[in-house]
Amino acid sequence: MTSAEAFMDRVRSRDPNEPEFHQAVAEVVESLWPWLHREGQRYLDAQILERLVEPERVVSFRIAWVDDAGKIQVNRGYRIQMNGAIGPYKGGLRFHPTVTLSVLKFLAFEQVFKNSLTTLAMGGGKGGADFDPKRKSDAEVMRFCQSFMTELQRHIGPDTDVPAGDIGVGGREIGYMFGQYRRLRHRFDGVLTGKGPEWGGSLIRPEATGYGAIYFAQEMLATQGQRIQDKTVIISGSGNVAQFAAEKCIALGAKVVTMSDSSGFIHDPAGIDSEKLAWIMELKNVRRERLKEYAEHFGVEYYPGQRPWAIPCHVAVPCATQNELDSDDAKQLLDNHCMCVVEGANMPLTTKAVAQLQSHKILFGPGKAANAGGVATSGLEMAQNSQRMYWSRERVDGELHTIMRKIHAACCEHGQRPDGSIDYVAGANIAGFIKVANAMLAQGC
Ligand code: GLU
Repeated sequence: MTSAEAFMDRVRSRDPNEPEFHQAVAEVVESLWPWLHREGQRYLDAQILERLVEPERVVSFRIAWVDDAGKIQVNRGYRIQMNGAIGPYKGGLRFHPTVTLSVLKFLAFEQVFKNSLTTLAMGGGKGGADFDPKRKSDAEVMRFCQSFMTELQRHIGPDTDVPAGDIGVGGREIGYMFGQYRRLRHRFDGVLTGKGPEWGGSLIRPEATGYGAIYFAQEMLATQGQRIQDKTVIISGSGNVAQFAAEKCIALGAKVVTMSDSSGFIHDPAGIDSEKLAWIMELKNVRRERLKEYAEHFGVEYYPGQRPWAIPCHVAVPCATQNELDSDDAKQLLDNHCMCVVEGANMPLTTKAVAQLQSHKILFGPGKAANAGGVATSGLEMAQNSQRMYWSRERVDGELHTIMRKIHAACCEHGQRPDGSIDYVAGANIAGFIKVANAMLAQGC
């Protein structure tokens, strides 16, 4: 292996049609490369990078289901078991029309590092289907989930692979899939996380990704003697992560002025307070309607087809999806003197956008560190299931907070630049890598 570029050329030529996967790998390889040559020759000798980019197992399957008109529909499902060196595969299921093998491989790859950073024993995996739950009836979603789990159940287990939610998969979908697993396997296992609190779910799991991202932002701001209180925050997305990131910001005294969905964004200069947020939660989670209604209801501006990055802010929290913030947006944020960008979603910034923020050395929290609170709390749900115990809200929230602080500390330890500032991208990649790589060396696989 001669250079990072040569390594990436090999990855690209092996699977040429996987741009999202290549983007995620390139970011990791670029930031690991100098460190590997300085301190990690043993990992290079043992071809650890080559091993890491090859999933341990990929399952692809047909999902046939019957729609409300009585017609058979066919979708494609996947589960990628990326790396199991430090624990059972763990990672969400995404149901969205944009789901491809490339998207899931990028997510599974990120998950390996993210799960390692949580300090818990979880390997990395990801799965999903190109199914669009939007505008489907409840009965259609149920039949789809049942058909999906009929195949998936043979590949997972509480000590093998434990899926959870992601975009398009929330409490409703986890419920239908868990019910089908239980009927087929005749077992009540902790085989999925994000379960309902009455049937094995952990308190704080729904809140965890959003809360965790804001806990991480607090730690980042503290390195510069700053607090999130009184800061103006722009958030994209209005799903699970965005909702609870907003909730935590509001609780900490910050002013959240935007949220978005795939049709556009709302700008509420007075701030989205707890009451307005409760209204949004009802709109999105119960009525499953568009955010545009918020603008009409509260008389604020709605920007169809746009994203919120031009709105002046101190802190930006992209919580929607991959590549939703490009280099022009990054420039806007810098022009507006934004001081901190924290990724609630997975890879929401393009490579160029990240490079731009990094070159200006503003605080940038990459998703594999900043949004690890969700999967960390999934790990706590697994621990509770194994104990057949339920922990209190305070206990789970306390553990989540501690884990986010530890992740931040690990990023600082491994990401310190010569001038004392923190490169959180390098820090997260190196800290996440070391644990997995050592386990792979020890296990010889
Ligand atoms: N989908 C979430 C993530 O991207 C959570 C995964 C889990 O809880 O297993 O980390």
